[in-house]
Parts: sequence; structure tokens; C-alpha cells
Amino acid sequence: MRIGDRTVLCTLRGRLKDSLYREADDGTRVRQYADPVSVGDRVSITALGNEGVVEEVYPRATKLSRLMAKAHEDAPDVEQVIVANVDQVVIVASVKQPRINLRFIDRIALLTEFGGAKPLLCLNKRDLLKDKDEAELDDLLTRVYGRIGVEWALVSAVERLGLDGLTKHLEGKFSVFVGSSGTGKSSLLNALNPDLNLRIGNVSHATSKGRHTTTHVELHPMPFDGTVADTPGMKEIGLWGVPTESIDYYFVEFRPYLGKCRFADCWHFAEPGCAIRAAVKSGDISPERHENYKTLCREVPQEEHERRARRPR
Ligand code: GDP
Ligand code: ZN
Repeated sequence: MRIGDRTVLCTLRGRLKDSLYREADDGTRVRQYADPVSVGDRVSITALGNEGVVEEVYPRATKLSRLMAKAHEDAPDVEQVIVANVDQVVIVASVKQPRINLRFIDRIALLTEFGGAKPLLCLNKRDLLKDKDEAELDDLLTRVYGRIGVEWALVSAVERLGLDGLTKHLEGKFSVFVGSSGTGKSSLLNALNPDLNLRIGNVSHATSKGRHTTTHVELHPMPFDGTVADTPGMKEIGLWGVPTESIDYYFVEFRPYLGKCRFADCWHFAEPGCAIRAAVKSGDISPERHENYKTLCREVPQEEHERRARRPR
């Protein structure tokens, strides 16, 4: 933990570990959180020299959470707070190699919105684009994200293009970088702060899966005012906590139309009289976002639907 400029090695007060569990309807203890404290948390500690004990974790202003990878069968809803109290989630994607994946972007944008932070798109490997491709990409981004108020930075870590623009977005903020591996997240952080010397290439998927995996989040200082948290390239970012029936609400541009469909429980898939689909048709909602919305809704497995339906409200 940090107190001003000082770093204090802390243990956790025992009762904080109890908060990992909640009591289930049948009185058994069920795991609810992956960790008692997360990167970015504000805490109170009792300091004893260079060591301390974390007494309390304060409520989080924002959080970016995921479903704990391969959560236990008895506790499928375990929340892993990747980082707490971030202002901004920087969604790192590459424009080519691998090609841009709007589905990944919208998944993280949904979790960002749900956790109360702001998304920023950071599109790397700009050097691989010809002028014509760049104009096309700009049109796509304007059409899909510009109109919903999500900003982006088009950069190249290798050619050091667009870094000033990205830095402006990071200044004075606490940001977390999220991206699938191979998109150049480490290269980008090195470009922002050459002292970091993060390892490039050598993509390993082994660390992103498995029940026992912890998400190692690292805080990096920057040569400007601002802090960046780095997450390992995550393949599995399960939708934690977003009830399937509320996914539409966290697609911000859907909000003005919610409640205007013919059926109150409309999923905006193929129902007649759907206000969302009408907005897609008239061009007010982009078809890409609507497609990704449907994909995210379908992702919640059938058993999960059934289990949630059985759960008392
Ligand atoms: P990470 O897995 O997201 O951390 O990605 P790395 O930083 O390890 O980079 C993955 C690969 O993409 C490496 O081969 C990098 O050299 C390459 N790369 C990173 N940034 C750029 C860029 O701006 N342009 C190009 N052409 N390649 C890049
Ligand atoms: Zn509808």
C-alpha cells in the first residue's frame, strides 16, 4: 500500500477475508469475491514502521470487474475486481495483425460502463495502414463510436505516431489498459515510458486461463501526471454482474429507446414493434453495436439463465 511516497507492505485484517464470502439461502458460505482488496483500492491501515495491516477497504467509486476465470461450480458468480477507482479504461486494439475486433471493444465498453468508468479506444499499429485504410477506419470509428461519445487515439507504438494525443487523454487520470495479447499493449506502455522495459512479443496464453489464475495488475508511473494500470492480455473476460436483461441499458445509445418497444420484455432481437431495431433501421443505432449487443446477450449460457430465474428476487 502507498502512503504518500512511501510503500508499506501490508497484511490483511482477518475479517476482510470473511467478506470474500456471503451466506447463501441455505445458510452455506458462498464465495462472492476473488480477492479482498484490489489494485486501486483506497484503504485504511494501521502502520507499524514499514509494515502495516489493512483494516478497511473503502467503497469503490468505479471498478472494472470480470467473472473470475473458471469460477467454482458452486460459486459461479465470483467477482474479480481487476482494478478499482479508475477514471478511464483504455481499450487497446490493433488495426491489423490482429485485425480490429469490435466485439472485444464492446464487451469491455459494456463492463466499463457497468463499473462507472469512461472508455477510451486506443488503436495501435497505425503504421500498418495505408492512407486509404486509415480513412476507412476513421469513417467506421466515427459512425460506430463517435456518435456515442467514445473517443479514440490512433497510434503506432513502433513508429511513435499519435502518442501526444494519447498522452493528453491520460494526463491527470488513473487509467487501466486492457487488450488481448498481441495488440501491442506492452510496446505502447514502453513507448509512453521507456524506463518500463516491458517484455515484447512472446505471447503466452497460459497465464490468462485457469481457475487458480490471479490477474496480476501492475501500476506504472508515467513521465507525465497520471497513472496507468496494466493488465495481462486477457482472453476470457466474462461478463460479471451485468444481468442479461440489463445489457441493453449499458449500451448507452440504446437508453432513449428503452421502454418504447411493443413488448415490455423485448430482447431487441427479432420481436415486432422493437424500438431499438427501428433505430438501427433508421441509422440512429449502428448495426455493429446492435450485433455485438446480441452476441453478448447470447453469451450468458442457458444454465445461467435458468439459475438466475430460479434465484429468489
Ligand atoms: P501485447 O501482447 O499486447 O503486450 O503486445 P506486444 O507489445 O508484446 O506486441 C506484440 C507484437 O506486435 C510484437 O511483435 C510487436 O513488435 C508488435 N507491435 C507492437 N506495436 C506495434 C506497432 O505500433 N506497429 C507494428 N507494426 N507492430 C507493433
Ligand atoms: Zn426491443
